Amino acid sequence: MGGNKIPLKFRLYMMLYPLRILMKSLASNFTGGEKMGNFNLEGKKAIVFGVANDASIGWHIAKKLNDSGVRIALGYQERAEQLVKPLLSMLNNPFAEKCDVVDDVLLTEFFNKVEKEFGKVDFLIHSIAFAKKEHLQGKYYEVDRRGYQVAQEVSAYSLAELTRRTAPLMNDNGSIIAMTYYGSEKVTPNYNIMGVAKAALESSVRYIANDLGGKGIRVNAISAGPIKTLAASGISDFDTMLNHSREKAPLKRNIDADDVANLALFLCSDMSKNITGQVIYVDAGYSIMGI
Ligand code: NAD
Repeated sequence: MGGNKIPLKFRLYMMLYPLRILMKSLASNFTGGEKMGNFNLEGKKAIVFGVANDASIGWHIAKKLNDSGVRIALGYQERAEQLVKPLLSMLNNPFAEKCDVVDDVLLTEFFNKVEKEFGKVDFLIHSIAFAKKEHLQGKYYEVDRRGYQVAQEVSAYSLAELTRRTAPLMNDNGSIIAMTYYGSEKVTPNYNIMGVAKAALESSVRYIANDLGGKGIRVNAISAGPIKTLAASGISDFDTMLNHSREKAPLKRNIDADDVANLALFLCSDMSKNITGQVIYVDAGYSIMGI
């Protein structure tokens, strides 16, 4: 009885997922070894949070860094395990462990193991967000106290939490990157509590940049245009956001997760050594949709 309740679309997705990953894995064997010119980050190490599947922005960043010589430590949520495990074969000697940013025990275990395995690290990628689906539609003020707290804790506070745990392991001149969206600045239909959480996240980026600047550690946020991912599927009427963004953009196109990963690579490299405390946009253009 219960099994039949899983939508056919989802069952097909799960059935075909391993095949899709195998094809990608074979393709990456042909291209994955090449280092990226000026962005050769050989010998560096990164902690990446926010891989749920092969569409995740966090995954595209992890893969791009890996292909530039960076060893990856992945902290993934238990419920994503089935979709994350097959991806690991595409990374060079990764460390991967279940972790949840609201669970202190798991966080402590994760960071102890990363320290044992990696010693020092160079980069922290924060590609995490969560809000209850019912708070990503309708009126913003309908959000209840608990929904507000959860969204802020997972989507914004977690940057401070992960930074506090990463900083003692971080080499000088490292880079920390968080993911944000324009809904932090302008009212964007249905983005609601996530817009408010992203505003807190962007402000946190500036404060943490100031905190760690003395060690040469840079902290920036990438503000990405809309991309179809698991998190995006929680936002009501997301296709309208995509269409609107494409129509309003000067280049008349949407971006993809690889565009975001390219910017992340730049922000990890010495090419961006004097850029910190910034929100940097990767969009085919500014989407004027809010007030
Ligand atoms: P995604 O669903 O693939 O990634 C979100 C990740 O957050 C998942 O890996 C999930 O496991 C993780 N996460 C949620 N709660 C967590 C918790 N308690 N502990 C640990 N991890 C947790 O979707 P995505 O679009 O790749 O999102 C990545 C980031 O990019 C988010 O911050 C999102 O807001 C941001 N972003 C997305 C878009 C877009 O259009 N997709 C645009 C701009 C910014």
